[in-house]
Amino acid sequence: MKVLICDATAPAALEAMSAAGIEVVNKPDVTPDELMEMLPDYHGMVVRSRTKVRAPLIDVATNLKVIVRGGVGLDNIDVEYAQSKGITVLNTPAASTDSVAELTVGYVFALARRIPQMTASMKAGKWEKKAFKGSELAGKTLGLVGAGRIGRAVAHRASALGMTAIAYDPYVQAAEGIEMVTLDEVFSQADYISLHVPNTPETRNIIDAKAIAKIKDGVRIINCGRGGTVDEDALYDAILAGKVAGAALDVYAEEPNKGHKLYSLDRVIGSPHVGAATGEAQGRVGAEVAEKIIGFFRDK
Ligand code: NAD
Repeated sequence: MKVLICDATAPAALEAMSAAGIEVVNKPDVTPDELMEMLPDYHGMVVRSRTKVRAPLIDVATNLKVIVRGGVGLDNIDVEYAQSKGITVLNTPAASTDSVAELTVGYVFALARRIPQMTASMKAGKWEKKAFKGSELAGKTLGLVGAGRIGRAVAHRASALGMTAIAYDPYVQAAEGIEMVTLDEVFSQADYISLHVPNTPETRNIIDAKAIAKIKDGVRIINCGRGGTVDEDALYDAILAGKVAGAALDVYAEEPNKGHKLYSLDRVIGSPHVGAATGEAQGRVGAEVAEKIIGFFRDK
């Protein structure tokens, strides 16, 4: 069996697959054109988020039996089309939960005390004690949109900070330590709104101008979920108007997102889609990728 590694994957994972008798070819920088030429020879492929697996590529992959996505979101793969061609699509959903939850909680602190802005001020040689009056987290309400793995992991951490966790998730009846509420109740009660949903027709721009009109003044918004779930123009306007007191973004409607107008606002902090980018998560993703590939071919 031949497996093509199309995006950077932990070396230990490659070694484990080779040790199991799989021929592994590591091409973490493979281009779309190269893939069109190479893929017909392969039985399996491993991707992260960089490689796009769309219909034209699937059409040429006549020997392909399995695609493993290291990570959660499957938006870079035409899953239904691949399945219609008899190709199994697997992912490693739990591997990055703690890393993303920790980044989210880091942003909750950063927004409450404006840590990045204070650091920038200190680096500029200033001493602006009066400019940086913060707020406490204890007693505040964290409103989650999405109570899956990461939403729950965030709620668990928030409860240790004395925050109350509420969540809107139409597919979850109950979750420990979280009060399940309607979306409008999240909007009317939350001091912090954190998104942990995939980008689907239902969640696209779930935070838009209409939603922002319903939220409490001074709310802070965090998106370490998926781009496209927050209307970025509406968020920009709401921050300019002072309705939203701050936002922290790890994901964007368009990625890479360089020089977005949101970053012209002092109240916006963020990162380049690094929620899962920790040594620990990458190691777990690699181990799970290897497990899935080895298991798939063993069971065939
Ligand atoms: P999950 O599948 O466990 O949870 C997603 C939750 O969203 C589910 O409980 C689902 O019921 C809920 N949901 C679906 N549609 C909804 C809707 N219309 N309204 C409210 N809730 C809805 O996934 P997870 O592991 O918790 O991941 C959450 C998100 O984080 C995913 O979009 C994933 O792609 C993203 N993610 C981001 C990073 C990063 O680097 N920033 C890393 C990993 C995962």
